[in-house]
Amino acid sequence: MGSDQFLMQTYTRLPIGFDHGQGSWLWDTHGNKYLDAVSGIAVVLLGHAHPEFVAAISDQAGKLVHTSNLFQVPLQAELGERLCAVTGMERAFFGNSGAEANEAAIKLARRVGHVRGMETPSIIVTDGAFHGRTMATLTATGNRKVHAGFEPLVGGFKRIPYDDLEALANVGKHRDEVIAVLVEPIQGENGVVIPKPGYLRGLREICDALGWLLMLDEIQTGMGRTGKWFAFQHEDIQPDVITLAKSLGNGVPIGACLARGAAAEALVPGSHGSTFGGNPLACRAALTVLDCVDKDNLVAHAAELGAYIVAQLEHRIGALPIVAAVRGSGLMIGVELHRACSEIVNLAMEAGVLVNVTNERIIRLLPPLNLTQSEADILVDAVASSISEFAQSP
Ligand code: PLP
Repeated sequence: MGSDQFLMQTYTRLPIGFDHGQGSWLWDTHGNKYLDAVSGIAVVLLGHAHPEFVAAISDQAGKLVHTSNLFQVPLQAELGERLCAVTGMERAFFGNSGAEANEAAIKLARRVGHVRGMETPSIIVTDGAFHGRTMATLTATGNRKVHAGFEPLVGGFKRIPYDDLEALANVGKHRDEVIAVLVEPIQGENGVVIPKPGYLRGLREICDALGWLLMLDEIQTGMGRTGKWFAFQHEDIQPDVITLAKSLGNGVPIGACLARGAAAEALVPGSHGSTFGGNPLACRAALTVLDCVDKDNLVAHAAELGAYIVAQLEHRIGALPIVAAVRGSGLMIGVELHRACSEIVNLAMEAGVLVNVTNERIIRLLPPLNLTQSEADILVDAVASSISEFAQSP
């Protein structure tokens, strides 16, 4: 394996690298096989080397990878239409990552504010949020560690606790320059934090009453991950803006900001753009993801298999004193322990399974959506035994 001395040391990397994958499985450079419950952090929705996906992007690479947004991009127009149909939105802007999708949302919210005559329109964000690593999105992120060393942060954000409608309503009483609320329907990086039922509906009601845009960051939760196409559909509401990335391209970089109403009209020629955004290769990848999720009924499968995994984990380890909670929505699953547990990653790896630990104490499972029942059993076994072993360590 090559040394990483010529790479900026921005990541704490595990000492393994992968050679190839197939479905939910990865093979490392020494030939060891692992069940992948990380999926590139909720990216590889269809699993690795999915035959239709490989065929589609290979075909597209042989035809046309990139032109420019100076021209019509038919696949981009088609993807915009498909995403609007499945989300109930009206227009799409494409970038290359989650942070860029959120940047577009932040920019368009500010534009709507200026159109309404506000001088300093601000956006309400929440504690524990993760929205990206660009200057505006790291400011929107509710984690001091992400801010540290990058001050001065960007102005125009106001922070409130997550899952707290009263706090939001209170801001409404005291501030008239608010234009939008930006929230994750479930906080992924913060540890699969699922708000109380009714939270999204409550957000919608407050935003409606105060004339604010409701902007949902579905970068981790979107595309069927939670057992609905989008997490907001669990509460039957319609946001004004949603942002997507991660699994949208199954690993081919693409992000999207979707909007409706005034928010869909805010960005005009010259006000925003991206060289690579929505190029033919990325759009073909995303269209293929939509096709495969649809055709293979993966949204319903994620809901069913996710509920099964949570029930099995609950049954196997739910009563251990070290386990604080087992929770999930579709195939976005978290097991919260009472103490820091990064060591679980190594224990699970020894058992042949890749998992991630986020926010120090939460084991996060994000397997591909086409994980099979027998693979789910392997995953549950490995996670349960790793936690039991960890519980016995000092
Ligand atoms: N928003 C959420 C909810 C995320 O989970 C992430 C990444 O983890 C981002 C935004 C940032 O996405 P990216 O790393 O593609 O910029």
